[in-house]
Amino acid sequence: ASIASMPQDVPAPNRTQDRGRAAAAAPSDSFTNTPDTDPSLAANRAWGDGIRARMESSTLGDATVSENTLSDAAALDAVIARAVASGASWRELGAEGRAAILHRAGDVLEARRADLLEVMGSEAGKVLEQGDPEVSEAIDFAHYYAESAKRAEAIEGAVHKPVGLTVVTPPWNFPVAIPAGSTLAALAAGSPVIIKPARQARRSGAVMIEALWEAGVPRDVLQYVQLDGRELGRQLVSDPAVERVILTGGYETAELFRSFRPDLPLLAETSGKNAIIVTPSADLDLAAKDVAYSAFGHAGQKCSAASLVILVGTVATSERFRRQLIDAVGSYKVGDPSDGASRIGPLIGPAEGKLLHALTTLEPDEKWVIEPERLDEAGQLWKPGIREGVAAGSPFHLTEYFGPVLGIMTANTLAEAIDLVNAIDYGLTSGLHSLDEDEVAQWLASVQAGNVYVNRGTTGAIVQRQPFGGWKKAAVGAGTKAGGPNYLAGLSDWEDAPVTA
Ligand code: GLU
Repeated sequence: ASIASMPQDVPAPNRTQDRGRAAAAAPSDSFTNTPDTDPSLAANRAWGDGIRARMESSTLGDATVSENTLSDAAALDAVIARAVASGASWRELGAEGRAAILHRAGDVLEARRADLLEVMGSEAGKVLEQGDPEVSEAIDFAHYYAESAKRAEAIEGAVHKPVGLTVVTPPWNFPVAIPAGSTLAALAAGSPVIIKPARQARRSGAVMIEALWEAGVPRDVLQYVQLDGRELGRQLVSDPAVERVILTGGYETAELFRSFRPDLPLLAETSGKNAIIVTPSADLDLAAKDVAYSAFGHAGQKCSAASLVILVGTVATSERFRRQLIDAVGSYKVGDPSDGASRIGPLIGPAEGKLLHALTTLEPDEKWVIEPERLDEAGQLWKPGIREGVAAGSPFHLTEYFGPVLGIMTANTLAEAIDLVNAIDYGLTSGLHSLDEDEVAQWLASVQAGNVYVNRGTTGAIVQRQPFGGWKKAAVGAGTKAGGPNYLAGLSDWEDAPVTA
């Protein structure tokens, strides 16, 4: 705990070096999660003020982006050829050799925590309270996958082979942790990587990649690209040298990639439409707080966000729950991340299409509990909204909107509530607030979601403790969980070792 109290831009002999030593000396189950910055300490708050002051004029990552923006097919071919040629030496380093570099990558990411927060705030609207755990998660991925690779190599009687050139296409909503996780996993498994961060978060991805280069990942083994035009995207995922694509993004993007290349070896975490059920046995105050944070943290732009709350039995008419929820949501200040009071930042772009519709239009049975309010000209800053009366089978029940609007549904029984959850095509996260063990058991036995959370919000999965991944249309391809014990297996081919004795 004392480690967490160190202000981050004072040279910190603290957490990273200790971790490196421990990781080298001890077995892999010694993994512990990286602490977030503790905002209760004055020194850390001053450190945060410094970061916010730099957000507006930040140019971090610019040079890497402009040097690696490709506009023609020949340039992309050259990138692919370099990646393929680099594969053998990276693989020959062995898990030990790669793990040493990955542990160093974790240390460099820690050393650049302030830079990563600055660029995420400046480019992607992340407030520090959202960005800081994301940096910790990226660091966790580095140390965790380093140890996973060593463990995989140590399994007797099997030969563990990297799949080969891996393309990583991460989203903009977790512009550091998701690209870091996918990239580090593929590198740990022994594959060279070409990463194309989302355009809206290209500088954040660049700063993260710079940290990996600085840690010693060779530049041919890990290449950063931005691509001018969809044709180059098609070329990249269609190249037969590409043996795996790790996509985190919308379900439609997975379909687009498949239309480019039907036999695409895809590992994808896609869309979510997630609900929290609250039963009469719940701690209603806790439930209200968790629902509010799960729905509106990072303006609801998380695959894991709660977009529905389903109130069972008497909770539907509970004044207490309603009051607590309205007050919790009303307390969120919406504004630019450079303003220390903001808890919800701007949307990644102006609300449009189905999200704008969900923020401005009700179905016949619905009513606003809190009506969303647009706060800026551009349409990026929105006071979050809550609608009630969402009907089974209606658009709001079944559609992912990815923004700051929550729907309330009601059910007579827990079984009915679970049916409402399972009627949704996506099964990414799901929450239950209940203090009744039988209800918890009933829900766990039947709810269709990859990540299930009891008496906790649905966002913020933690490496090793809560591996993250979906079910049904929330996962495409191998569908193993990020930050869990089987993720590297999805990035490896396994062969039986020849029997010699
Ligand atoms: N892993 C994140 C969480 O648990 C969600 C990632 C995503 O939005 O894809 O909140």
